[in-house]
Amino acid sequence: MDNSWENHEPSPIEFMHGRLMDEFHKWRKERTDEIIVPIDGSEFGKIVVAAKLATYEKYKVLGLNKAVLKSDLWESSKVKCDLCNREWVAVRPEGIERLECPNCHNMVSFENINNE
Ligand SMILES: [Zn+2]
Repeated sequence: MDNSWENHEPSPIEFMHGRLMDEFHKWRKERTDEIIVPIDGSEFGKIVVAAKLATYEKYKVLGLNKAVLKSDLWESSKVKCDLCNREWVAVRPEGIERLECPNCHNMVSFENINNE
């Protein structure tokens, strides 16, 4: 697998960040050369929508405009309680750092156990 950067596009968030800045400066330069400029919510919303639509279009294959099932943001794996060493399969929101151990009932840090 070739991991060189020329085979990559920026992440959708980074692309949108760039488009937001481009759209903002385009809007700003139509009004002033100043960097600090008052903006109302309606104008800000137009800038955000333009960047959002450009991001949806560029990453059409990813379906970024679609809602995400809450269950798709969950992960599961075998874990081990850091206090009592009990192992269990935990289904949890991605990124969570503590779980209630089913054995000792403490809110514990846990370690992922590789499934062999
Ligand atoms: Zn425990």
